[in-house]
Amino acid sequence: MTTKIKAAVLEQPNVLGIKEVDMPKAGPGEVLVKVKAVGICGSDVHYYIEGRIGDYIVEKPIILGHETSGEIAEVGEGVTHLKKGDKVALEPGIPCGCCIQCKSGYYNLCADVKFHATPPYDGTFAQYVVHPAQFAFKLPDHVSFVEGAMIEPLSVGIHAARQGGIGLGSRVLITGAGPIGLVTLLAAKAAGAGVITVIEGKANRAAMALQLGATNVIQSFDAAEILKETNRITDNFGFDVAIECSGAGPAAQTAIKVLKRGGTLVFVGLFSQLEVPMDLNAITQKELTFKGVFRYKNTYPTAIDLIASGRIDVKPLITVRFPWEKVKDAMDCAHKDAHNQIKVMTEW
Ligand SMILES: [Zn+2]
Ligand SMILES: [Zn+2]
Repeated sequence: MTTKIKAAVLEQPNVLGIKEVDMPKAGPGEVLVKVKAVGICGSDVHYYIEGRIGDYIVEKPIILGHETSGEIAEVGEGVTHLKKGDKVALEPGIPCGCCIQCKSGYYNLCADVKFHATPPYDGTFAQYVVHPAQFAFKLPDHVSFVEGAMIEPLSVGIHAARQGGIGLGSRVLITGAGPIGLVTLLAAKAAGAGVITVIEGKANRAAMALQLGATNVIQSFDAAEILKETNRITDNFGFDVAIECSGAGPAAQTAIKVLKRGGTLVFVGLFSQLEVPMDLNAITQKELTFKGVFRYKNTYPTAIDLIASGRIDVKPLITVRFPWEKVKDAMDCAHKDAHNQIKVMTEW
């Protein structure tokens, strides 16, 4: 008889309940992880409410959750760097390892990646999950499970800061202070940015940005007003780097205007309006660089070091916690109370 465990299964949009599923078993090179904390991501909420994100469609029951930490319950054959009882954070994307993207170091761009909670692959809202040991990263004892779960969203911020080439004294503009804008802010600060200006309309998020180390927050969406304020902040020079985290077309248009000549615009947010008019000549005349951010790569060790050393504190982003079996309530909270919450966390 196979042992059963509990998992939160999304049967169809809005139908999410705790079900019994088979206990997974760690094969060679894998670890069995007792899940301890999972953060709720905007993507989980999209699948829960709408059953899809673009081309990714929930066609059969799926277990959501991809921002995961836990404890090693069992190691598979050949696993030497982890042992039972270790605390780990799980990097949720398992690339194929063989394609040209993987082999050239861009494993986040692997077309054959199996990513937790991206259909058809299950995520981690379960008592136990099996994961390749090479994508399970050991956490120091003093780093909590909820901090471990925050490494996934923080990774996006670290990758964005790297894509933007942020370094000592960089003048950085971040448009949007949702969860991703805020982790980008944390990463930019840790990378040594001298100025971090955040554009965010919502008062609670603007306040959080200041609390986390933004040097200025602009709460207006008026283009002329933003230009005036950014000219003041940068002595009319413009920002070195703009990181677009809002997914709003006007934010990208503004970023082009307020970048310095030779500046870099990093796109992190996904746009609901796909065609946004852009001043294309500005790209040529200002010699701008455009970069995209798709998930992240090689960020987990960096994130762990930054959290363990106290250089980055992710805890203020966690605005509410639920026991994991209340995942439906947690999901509803992330959906309905999106204006007040930054990160909804679930714990085992
Ligand atoms: Zn996520
Ligand atoms: Zn690959």
